[in-house]
Amino acid sequence: VSEHENLSDEKLLAELKKHFGYNTFKSDLQKKAVQTIVKRKQDVFVSMPTGSGKSLCFQLPSLIYSRKVAIVFSPLLALMKDQLDGLHKRNIRAETINSKISNADRQRIISDLKLKVPNTRLLYVTPEQAATGTFKNILYDLYRYRKLSYMIVDEAHCVSQWGHDFRPDYLKLGHLRSGLPGIPWIALTATASKPVMEDIKTHLKLNDPAIFKTPCFRPNLFYDVVYEDLIEDSYSHLAEFVEETLRKDVGSSDDDEPNGDQNNHDRKQSERGCGIIYCRTRILTEEVATVLNRKGIPTVPYHAGLKDKERRQIQEDWTVGKYPVIAATISFGMGVDKATVRFVIHWGMAPSIPAYYQESGRAGRDGNPAFCRVYHNKATRKAIDFILCQERNAAKTKQKEEQCKSAYKAYEQMVDLLENARCRHWSLATYFGDEKPDCQKNCDVCKNHKLVSRAISDFHSAREYQKFGLTNSADYVETFGDLYGEGRGGVAKDSDDYSNEVSDKYGVDLNEKKDTDLINTIKEQFALRRESGGSISRNDKDDPGVKYSIVRAAEATKVKVA
Ligand code: ADP
Repeated sequence: VSEHENLSDEKLLAELKKHFGYNTFKSDLQKKAVQTIVKRKQDVFVSMPTGSGKSLCFQLPSLIYSRKVAIVFSPLLALMKDQLDGLHKRNIRAETINSKISNADRQRIISDLKLKVPNTRLLYVTPEQAATGTFKNILYDLYRYRKLSYMIVDEAHCVSQWGHDFRPDYLKLGHLRSGLPGIPWIALTATASKPVMEDIKTHLKLNDPAIFKTPCFRPNLFYDVVYEDLIEDSYSHLAEFVEETLRKDVGSSDDDEPNGDQNNHDRKQSERGCGIIYCRTRILTEEVATVLNRKGIPTVPYHAGLKDKERRQIQEDWTVGKYPVIAATISFGMGVDKATVRFVIHWGMAPSIPAYYQESGRAGRDGNPAFCRVYHNKATRKAIDFILCQERNAAKTKQKEEQCKSAYKAYEQMVDLLENARCRHWSLATYFGDEKPDCQKNCDVCKNHKLVSRAISDFHSAREYQKFGLTNSADYVETFGDLYGEGRGGVAKDSDDYSNEVSDKYGVDLNEKKDTDLINTIKEQFALRRESGGSISRNDKDDPGVKYSIVRAAEATKVKVA
C-alpha cells in the first residue's frame, strides 16, 4: 500500500501551500490529477493546454514522497532549465544530468542519489541521456533501494510521429518499463490529437492510464470560414469585418452602456477590444497592415525579420492598445496573454489543426464572445501543398521523409476542416479525441448549414487553375495574360479549350507536364512578362487584392515579383 494513498484534501492543500505557496488548485482537473498521481497506484496521462499548470501535477506528488526521487524526461535543455529555475526559487532540490554539466556536478548528484535518503526530489534527464549506462545504473539503483517515486515523461507527444516534434529517442523510454515493475508512469503533453494519444499509450507502454484531459471546446469562440475565391475583394471584406468587430466590441456586451462604440471609447485603451491577423509571410503582414491603415484601422505588422527591439516595441504598443490590430506571422504568440482579443483571423489557412487551434485560441481569453475566422483560398492551399511536396521530395533521410508525410497528413486534415460542412467545433473536438461539443450555433456551419454547404460546393467548382500548375486567377493573368477568363476578353471557352490555346501559344502541354516543369514554365513566363514590361491585363492592377494574389502566387512558385 502506498504511503500517501489516503491523503485528505486538507493535507493535500497544506502540501500545496507548503511547497508552492498556493492556496488552491488551479483547476479541478489539476486537483484530480494530483489526487490520483499521489496514490501511486496507476499510470496517468495528462493533457492540458500550456500555462494550465501541468508541471505541478507531478511536481507536488514528487515532493510529497520526501524520501524518494522522481525521474523526469524532458526533450530540451532550455525547457529543463526553466523548470529547474522555478523549482530552485522555491528551494526545491531538483537536478539534471546531461551532457553539458561538469564532472564535479555529476559526481555530486550521483553521490546524493546514493544516500539512504537523497536530497534530490526530481531528476531531469534528456531522452538521449536515458540510454546511457550511467543513467541506467542510477535508475536501477534507485529502484532496487525503493527510492524511485515516478517515471515522468514531459512533452510526451515527442514519442509520436504524428506529433510536431517527434524525437526518436523518446521511443526508447518504453524499454525501461520492464525493469521497473510497480513504478507508475506519468505522461504529460499540451497537444494530443487522438492518434498522438494512442502513440503515447503504446510506445510508453502505459497500462490502462487514468486520463486527465482538458476538453478543447471553447464555447465563447465563433468559428467561420470565408471562401475567398468566391468573393470580389478580400481586403474590403477583411476591413469591413475588422472595423465592425472592433466597433461592436462584443466583449463589452454585458456592460450597462448599450452603445458599443461609445463603450469601447470610454474604457481604458488597454482594455479595448483588439485583434490578431495571422499571415503566412512577412510580405503579407506588411501588406495587410498597409491596406488596413489606409482604410483607417490602425494596424502594425510584426514578423521575425524585425529587430528584437522593434518587435518588443510593437508587442508593447499592441498590448497597451495603441494599435488595436496586429498583422503578424506565427512568430507572434509566445507569451501573448491579452484577454481582450476579440478576433483572430487567419489570412490564409494554417498548415495543421493543432497550429490553428493554438493560434485561434488566443481569442476571447476573457470568456466573452470572440471570432476566429479563416480566409481560405485555393492559392494558399496550393502554396502549402507545393512547399510540403517539395520538402518531401528533398527529404534525404527516412526520418525526414516520415516527418514530411505527417506534415502532409496534418495539412490534409486542416483542409478537411475547412472544406467540409461539418460543425467547426466538432471537427476540432474530433481531432483532439473529445466528444461532440454543444456548439449552440457558434460556428458558420451550425448557424447556416445550407449556406455553407453551397459555398463549399461553389468553392470546389470554382475554376481549377491548379490544373494548369497555376495557383489562382491573378497568377494566371500574370502568366498567360489574355487567353482566358471572364470579362477579360479571353478567347478560350472552357478549361480544355484553354489548355489547347496554351499549348498552341507556348508549346506546353498542360495536361502532360509535371508540376516542376509547369512551375518552370510559369517562371519563364513571369520573367518574359517582366522583361517586356508586360503588365497585368486587369485594369485594377493596383488593387491590393490582385497584388496580394500575385505575391501569393509568386511565393508558391518561388518567383520574385519586381
Ligand atoms: P504548463 O506546464 O501546463 O504549461 P505550468 O506548470 O508552467 O503550466 O504552470 C503555469 C503557471 O501556473 C505557472 O506560473 C505556475 O506556477 C502556475 N500555477 C500552477 N499551479 C498553480 C496553482 N495551483 N495556483 C496558482 N498558480 C499555479
